[in-house]
Amino acid sequence: MKYETLIIGAGAAGMMCAAHAGPGVLVVDHAKTPGEKIRISGGGRCNFTNLYAEPNNFISQNKHFCKSALAGYSQWDFIDLVGKHRIEWHEKTLGQLFCDNSAKDIITMLRAEMDRAGAQLWLRTSLNSLHYDGTHFTAELIKDSENIAITARQVVMAAGGKSIPKMGATGLGYQIAAQFDLPVITPRPGLVPLTFADDRFKSLAGTAAPARVHADGPDFDEAILFTHRGLSGPAILQASSYWDLGAPIHVNLNPAGDLFDQLKSQRSDNGRKDLTTILGQYLPARLVAHLGQELAFSGNIADQSDDQLRRICAALSDWQLTPTGSEGYRTAEVTLGGVDTDTLSSKTMGAKSVPGLYFIGECVDVTGWLGGYNFQWAWSSGYAAGQAIKAS
Ligand SMILES: Cc1cc2nc3c(=O)[nH]c(=O)nc-3n(C[C@H](O)[C@H](O)[C@H](O)COP(=O)(O)OP(=O)(O)OC[C@H]3O[C@@H](n4cnc5c(N)ncnc54)[C@H](O)[C@@H]3O)c2cc1C
Repeated sequence: MKYETLIIGAGAAGMMCAAHAGPGVLVVDHAKTPGEKIRISGGGRCNFTNLYAEPNNFISQNKHFCKSALAGYSQWDFIDLVGKHRIEWHEKTLGQLFCDNSAKDIITMLRAEMDRAGAQLWLRTSLNSLHYDGTHFTAELIKDSENIAITARQVVMAAGGKSIPKMGATGLGYQIAAQFDLPVITPRPGLVPLTFADDRFKSLAGTAAPARVHADGPDFDEAILFTHRGLSGPAILQASSYWDLGAPIHVNLNPAGDLFDQLKSQRSDNGRKDLTTILGQYLPARLVAHLGQELAFSGNIADQSDDQLRRICAALSDWQLTPTGSEGYRTAEVTLGGVDTDTLSSKTMGAKSVPGLYFIGECVDVTGWLGGYNFQWAWSSGYAAGQAIKAS
């Protein structure tokens, strides 16, 4: 069977690409339904983009690589598309846009766009092998236990990363890259809860607090959440993408920076109150009890000198914690690393050394922050490849 373009993976990027790649497109996926990650994303409401998306929100060895695709198909283009399909949405926080109704609306929209473009979709279909003769690809597919050979002028790898193997993530994109001698930046889990070998936070499980957190990257001002195994919550997930094993994360529990002044005025007004009671007005009581032991503070606030209060505020403003691991691909929202962008055209997502082979979405070494950025990368990179294929 002959097709113009074979797209492997009917996730966010693959479906977007199929809608724009012109005639003769076949999309295959080993799953039973397309867009499974879209369906479960954003608690079932899909945080489909971010109002403030810009290249700085993406992690890559080449921070310039994502610019062209993001400019060619921006959050405003996707918001227009969602509007055309009459999908109602709202901003939750920090520019994060969610469907009012259901993430399934986004899948229905992408399916409709694929149908409009005449793209075919084969589900429960996996790739057995891929060969290239210099001008054409031959893919051996297995569909319903049947071997089917497909030839195509273009192959687009849109098989995602390694995150959540239970949902069908296989890392196939990296294997195909390796087959064609394209380097891959070592994949690792991103947007992932961090863990500690001891159970120091067990008694705090379920406690949340606002904080400013960083690892080896920018500050993130969002909530942290203590879990049985360690730390989660949006600020920790964000920082996890910049964290390396063995390094500390820095948690600022005094993000407004005014705790010292607040404590001094409390000392004047409520001197007889216990320091932990006073701190409990600013932080969850269970966390204060934990910190009281770790930082060895006690007594009435009236008993604390300026220096003691300064020491406590400094410790709370840079609470350094060294996780011993992460929850790994089992729960990671994304996979960092991926196909080295040096080997791809930033305009088309095509492999420079293999004409006709494209990589889009999460399998490329471009990873977004939490907050709709990863889907935006899927839409932008899928669109870039689709446009290039249509024009070829
Ligand atoms: C729980 C969760 C919630 C998330 N929420 C958000 C959110 O709200 N906003 C946001 O921006 N991002 C979110 N993300 C991240 C986002 O889902 C991904 O970045 C995005 O789906 C990547 O798109 P993709 O098309 O590259 O890969 P995917 O969407 O993962 O699609 C890859 C497709 O390839 C198929 N496939 C894989 N291997 C093979 C194979 N060997 N043969 C055939 N087919 C194969 C898979 O079945 C899948 O359909 C979330 C991720 C998770 C896990």
